[in-house]
Amino acid sequence: MLDLAIIGGGPAGLTAGLYATRGGLNNVTMFEMGMPGGQITGSSEIENYPGQGPIMTGMELMDSWPEQCKRFGLEHVMSKVLQVVKNEDIFTLTLEDGSKVEAKSVLLATGSVPRSAGIPGEDKFFGRGISTCATCDGFFYKNKEVALIGGGDSALEEAVYLAKLCSKVYLVHRRDSYRAAPSTIEHMKACKNIEEVTNVDSQEILGDNMGVTGLIVKSKVTGEIRQLDVPGVFVFVGRDVLSDSLKQDDGSYLCDVNEATEVIVDLKMRTNVPGLYAAGDVRIDAAKQVVCAAADGATAAVDIIEYLG
Ligand code: NAP
Repeated sequence: MLDLAIIGGGPAGLTAGLYATRGGLNNVTMFEMGMPGGQITGSSEIENYPGQGPIMTGMELMDSWPEQCKRFGLEHVMSKVLQVVKNEDIFTLTLEDGSKVEAKSVLLATGSVPRSAGIPGEDKFFGRGISTCATCDGFFYKNKEVALIGGGDSALEEAVYLAKLCSKVYLVHRRDSYRAAPSTIEHMKACKNIEEVTNVDSQEILGDNMGVTGLIVKSKVTGEIRQLDVPGVFVFVGRDVLSDSLKQDDGSYLCDVNEATEVIVDLKMRTNVPGLYAAGDVRIDAAKQVVCAAADGATAAVDIIEYLG
């Protein structure tokens, strides 16, 4: 019987693990199907983590976190958690191999996954020229032209990263103003090889047997159709939260969630189900920053220690 089961090994889950173990809980296990570190490890440029030195990659930022948690006794099980249910005061987690684990408390820190832009051709060519990770796939387009869709922080940061590798980056956005932070917009505008293609609808991703060959966009202002001949299209149009493990057999969720299935929590990261917490991007109103996810994890762990008495 675990004192605490942490689902997800990003900044929220790892920080909760650190605070829970260091705070005296003995049986704390983090379930993370991949390498701990979370979605931020796919980011190529971080410059807003407090106290950090020069700009670093997400991988560099997260490198030492798992080891620090391990020192205080956090266990790591490499498995996906399919479902969490609660009977009386005990939670039961079903893992992907069908095995069950019981826990007195659960923290959901599963974050989110990249959203699809819904453009014809996007699913067909995913992994064959369509990517949602510039640090993973940018290298394949060294000295080539690529298109990148989106207008938020992720899109502009990754456009800047790709501009260093690729001969040209078409930054394709459906409006003419960006959601990204002013300093990120400034960095993007300073890149001579980024061409902004704004106020357009992305109509189709073209390809052949080898993969992507282009992207067709239509101007919302003039109606002009333009074909960008690129072998790679990067999509950064936001993310969807991963709260499926809270789904019960009847289709309802174990605790309250909103329309986007983000978990509703209070300021202590408590859901409406005693002993069940959520932290980081999977919760409502998340600022979607590493520092905020880490703070959520700490907040939740402090309250979980109190809950377990
Ligand atoms: P985001 O801020 O939600 O931006 C998504 C962008 O994609 C928006 O520009 C949106 O256009 C566009 N978009 C959405 N659906 C689309 C579609 N179907 N077709 C074409 N374009 C579409 O997402 P994000 O950039 O992934 O960022 C998520 C959160 O993480 C934000 O809160 C962000 O600030 C944060 N973040 C922070 C940092 C950092 O601080 N270093 C880095 C990355 C992310 P519209 O603008 O027209 O809606």
